[in-house]
Amino acid sequence: MWAWIISVRHGLSKFSVTAMLREQLALSQARVSQLERENAELKAKIAALEAELKLTRQAYDKTNEEYRNFKEFHIEDVVINESIEFRKGKRTRGEWMMFCPKCHIPTFTDYEPKGETVRCSTNCGWAGMLLEKDGVAVLMAAL
Ligand SMILES: [Zn+2]
Repeated sequence: MWAWIISVRHGLSKFSVTAMLREQLALSQARVSQLERENAELKAKIAALEAELKLTRQAYDKTNEEYRNFKEFHIEDVVINESIEFRKGKRTRGEWMMFCPKCHIPTFTDYEPKGETVRCSTNCGWAGMLLEKDGVAVLMAAL
């Protein structure tokens, strides 16, 4: 009788170990499947980010080139004389031109018999400057 009990007990313990191993195997396979799905999702995200990075780099390179061209176009000599800003560069075709010292926009000149009035072309508040007759030419000659 004891032999039978020992045999059944041995069989039951074998059965429970096998069941436990099968359960662990199933859990491991489920975990592998989950990790493979996550890996595929991450690879897709990486591919999307690489494409976005490529577009961003292209936009950056284009913007940087535009900035360099813009900067090169706006290289100017700047002189302040009698509170008027004078600039000379590509933008002014190599000629000295008067600019508002406040907003750096070109000025205009009213030529009147009593003299010449230099004013900001945007009405920024910078007071126009009254010069004697041929005053603009005198200022330009002094540059
Ligand atoms: Zn102005």
